[in-house]
Amino acid sequence: MAQFTYQSPWMNDELEMFRKTVRQFVQTEFVPQHARWCQQHRPDTEAWTKAGETGILLPDLPEEYGAGGTFAHEAVVIEELAQAGVCFGSNVHSIVAHYILAYGNPEQKRNWLPRMARGEMVGAIAMTEPAAGSDLAGIKATARRDGNFYVINGSKTFITNGWHAGIVGLAVKTDPKAAGVKGISLIMVESKDLPGYRVGRSLEKLGRHAQDTCELFFDDMRIPIANLLGPAEGKGFTQMMEQLPFERLSIGVGAVATAESAVAITTQYVKERKAFGQALLDFQNVRFKLAECKTEAHIGRVFLDNCITRFIAGQLDAATAAMAKYWLTECEGRIVDECLQLHGGYGYSTEYPIARMWADSRVERIYAGSNEIMKEVIGWSL
Ligand SMILES: Cc1cc2nc3c(=O)[nH]c(=O)nc-3n(C[C@H](O)[C@H](O)[C@H](O)COP(=O)(O)OP(=O)(O)OC[C@H]3O[C@@H](n4cnc5c(N)ncnc54)[C@H](O)[C@@H]3O)c2cc1C
Repeated sequence: MAQFTYQSPWMNDELEMFRKTVRQFVQTEFVPQHARWCQQHRPDTEAWTKAGETGILLPDLPEEYGAGGTFAHEAVVIEELAQAGVCFGSNVHSIVAHYILAYGNPEQKRNWLPRMARGEMVGAIAMTEPAAGSDLAGIKATARRDGNFYVINGSKTFITNGWHAGIVGLAVKTDPKAAGVKGISLIMVESKDLPGYRVGRSLEKLGRHAQDTCELFFDDMRIPIANLLGPAEGKGFTQMMEQLPFERLSIGVGAVATAESAVAITTQYVKERKAFGQALLDFQNVRFKLAECKTEAHIGRVFLDNCITRFIAGQLDAATAAMAKYWLTECEGRIVDECLQLHGGYGYSTEYPIARMWADSRVERIYAGSNEIMKEVIGWSL
């Protein structure tokens, strides 16, 4: 029987066309610049506006704000970036836009979303602080009402797109006396030339060097109360919990794409590389290891596709999104590590894509809620 080629059930001709456009754009505009972005620790500003012109930013937002697609379009962009080995914060940008879409009033949406879709305004989401990551109840940044303004003080760390960000979804305590996470609100900060707003250094990381991951500092920063997201204060934690499935599923998409890529490039490598007078693939252990990787990647793909289909239908619950983020990134970790091993010493050289995949993917088990926190979320559903 001929080998069966699996096709994701959510793919169609229109998405194939979109994939071609994204692939060509990423290959011509991003890939040649990526090494330089890694050195400067951020993409060029024009990368954002060019991405906007090509229609790859906010591809799933309604047409009045974005490209009018579905999560499938977002998935195609994430997959193409992952397969090209390009680290670009368009997914975090999308996450911020989704907060605005879900909780913003019409004026806020009109004000920010079209500029974000054009790449003129880059989005960042700032929750994590030096002393509060997994435990968001511990955040210390405060917003105090002063007439029609909030006066914001505090700091954030590990903020993706931090250098480029023109709009920051900032998690702050509007009621520091409220218990636990009850006093948290999300306030949208338009950061350009804003007194009291300071971007710190780009953090030195194990991987994802092309991304600007920064510290942010707020010193008596005055933000209009009209920039509060949602109708009332104190809704921030609920908003974050509601939006995290989008972020967690997106990470699952990147994880599967990276795992599939790792299997493909390693298969090619072991066919070409010789040892003891034969191709590496001719050793049974190499075949078995790659057979395990290919099987796991395929299981991941089928589960992911099921989650994507459910998400598009509005049926992906928080626990299943957490399962996707946890299991798919663990699976990716196992596969990429094994594929690196099969490259021998070259797998440890950052001149080889497998080494960069290994370093770039490691964080996926940590951010957007660590995988231990994912297991807690899944545990709540038991
Ligand atoms: C490259 C990168 C980009 C990032 N981008 C962003 C961003 O754009 N915006 C943003 O807000 N944040 C961002 N983060 C921060 C990220 O979300 C946090 O690092 C993550 O949530 C973990 O928090 P922490 O680092 O404080 O670790 P901690 O919370 O201190 O956790 C340390 C360890 O303890 C474990 N642990 C903690 N609590 C529990 C528990 N209850 N049960 C079991 N184990 C537990 C964790 O799983 C982890 O293994 C980014 C981080 C990185 C590295």
